[in-house]
Amino acid sequence: MQENSKRRAADTHIVLPLADQLLEAGLNASGMPAVLFSPEDEIAYISDAYRDLLDVPAHVETYSELVHHWHASGSGPQMHRDLQAELQSAMAERRKLRHRVYELNLTNGRWFLVNETVVGGAWVWNFLTEITAFKTNEQKLTISRDLAQQDAETDVLTGIYNRRAALKMLDAEIRKAQTSKRPLSVAIIDLDHFKAINDTQGHDGGDEVLGHFAVTASWQLRRSDMFARFGGEEFILIMPGAGEAEALSIVDRIRSEIVAKPISGLSIKYTFSSGIASYDGDSLKGFIRRADAALYQAKRDGRNCSRCG
Ligand code: GH3
Ligand code: MG
Ligand code: MG
Repeated sequence: MQENSKRRAADTHIVLPLADQLLEAGLNASGMPAVLFSPEDEIAYISDAYRDLLDVPAHVETYSELVHHWHASGSGPQMHRDLQAELQSAMAERRKLRHRVYELNLTNGRWFLVNETVVGGAWVWNFLTEITAFKTNEQKLTISRDLAQQDAETDVLTGIYNRRAALKMLDAEIRKAQTSKRPLSVAIIDLDHFKAINDTQGHDGGDEVLGHFAVTASWQLRRSDMFARFGGEEFILIMPGAGEAEALSIVDRIRSEIVAKPISGLSIKYTFSSGIASYDGDSLKGFIRRADAALYQAKRDGRNCSRCG
């Protein structure tokens, strides 16, 4: 193709040596989107598939004209910045490496892998392979993975985090507290006489109380707090940055809110007890054990109160 290096794609009547003709005919017939740019970035060869796929009109002769055309018409590759920024970033990458492969997302939603090779000094070949199906599957997999993770960390009844998520978050918060030396508190909250609520209101009434508590408490939390159903009628509140006094006041706020906003339409009144512990360098298990011990103290002290451990 050397002799025809200055030849443009539109000049279809130039007689090529046989090998070049066969090469060009083969490339075209393969349906492979391919384009060759000269060292001056003129389009030296363009396959029909490339022309159709990337919407290259006959009057477009250079790479820069091509980017201008794509930008103005909204066809070709997706572009999110202004024309100069698009051109600059494209030019910064072109010819930097002898060979590179990158993904190209077209405005029509199709994805291609661009195999870009620099030959003969500064000639640039681009060969495109469609990867839309792979990308679609990848996107589907990412969504299902995210949903599965969300499912695995959510309590079905209340919609808040479950025990597994709480333990994971607490473990992470303990590590942060160890390095930052910021306080960290947990409260284990257990609804009082819940068995009696189930006995008098039925299991559905009990479920309603659990839902009411989850929603009402969630509204009282700070942005950084994490709240989860720890199991049964037991909840855990993780309060990064809060010392014992602040943790106590957050739990008290929840208590007042439960009294102030009872379950509408039902004559159920309920209370809770809580055990609060502030991190003092112990293990995750030891930390929870202290909060648990404080909770049992609260139960022993008559319920509907908080104790610190
Ligand atoms: P205490 O004040 O000492 O905590 O007494 P309690 O009755 O709350 O505690 P106990 O452990 O005796 O009873 C807890 C009850 O919570 C027993 C169990 O059937 C009920 N429970 C656990 N999970 C659920 C649930 O998902 N829905 C309902 N409705 N009840 C549940
Ligand atoms: Mg209970
Ligand atoms: Mg309990």
